[in-house]
Amino acid sequence: MLCREVKRVAYFFLDGTLDAKRKRDFNKHLKLCSDCETRTAIHRRIRLFVQKRLARLVAPTRLKQRLTRSLRAFAD
Ligand SMILES: [Zn+2]
Repeated sequence: MLCREVKRVAYFFLDGTLDAKRKRDFNKHLKLCSDCETRTAIHRRIRLFVQKRLARLVAPTRLKQRLTRSLRAFAD
């Protein structure tokens, strides 16, 4: 796998949706290429940070009710 391909599929790799062969190729490339290894590690950290932040966000009840009403009105 080339750096270009690693950049293209990094999102799927981190998301766990890459097929087994590509996942192996991806990991093999990271062991040989420090640039891609570093970039992927940064992306992984950003993803974890965002996931933790989003997990704590809860929409207020009034906002949920307003959104539900708007969506129903839009659907009608
Ligand atoms: Zn690379």
